[in-house]
Amino acid sequence: MSDADCIFCKIIAGQVPSERVYEDDAVVAFLDIAPLAPGHTLVVPKHHCVNLLDAPHGALAAIMAAAPTVARAVLKATGAEGFSFVQFNGACAGQVVMHLHFHVVPRRAGDGVSFRWRQGEYQPGEMAALGARLRDALGSEAV
Ligand code: AMP
Ligand code: ZN
Repeated sequence: MSDADCIFCKIIAGQVPSERVYEDDAVVAFLDIAPLAPGHTLVVPKHHCVNLLDAPHGALAAIMAAAPTVARAVLKATGAEGFSFVQFNGACAGQVVMHLHFHVVPRRAGDGVSFRWRQGEYQPGEMAALGARLRDALGSEAV
C-alpha cells in the first residue's frame, strides 16, 4: 500500500530521485538528503505506515532484519566508530515525514551530534505509580 501524497512512497516507487543503497522485498534504504553526518541513511518499509503503532509486524521484522546490514555498510563506507539508530513518532517527537523510517547516523567521538537527551529524576513514589499505570495500560500483557 502506498500514499499518493507521501514523499517516501514516491521515493520507493522511483517517482522521486534518491541515493538508494539497499533494497529487499519489504525495505529500502537511501541517504538522508540533509545528513547529521555524511552517510546518514534512512531505513524505510515499502508498505506505507505512519509510525511504529500502525506498522504491520511483518514490516517491523523486515526493518529490524535489514538494519544491521545497512548499519554495517554505513560504518564500513564512512569509517565511523559507531552509529545512532533513532526513530520518531509524531510531530511533537520530531517526526517530519509521516512514513515510518529509522535513521542510521554515523557517529564518532566528539562529533557534536546531539539528540538533547536531558534526563530527569522521579520524586519519591512517582516511579512506582507510573509503573502501576503502565501495567494497567498493558492489561493482560503486563508482567
Ligand atoms: P524525521 O524527523 O524522522 O521525520 O526525519 C525525516 C528525514 O527525512 C529528515 O532527516 C530529512 O532530511 C529526510 N528527508 C526528507 N525528504 C527527503 C528526501 N527527498 N530524500 C532523502 N531524505 C529526505
Ligand atoms: Zn509513504
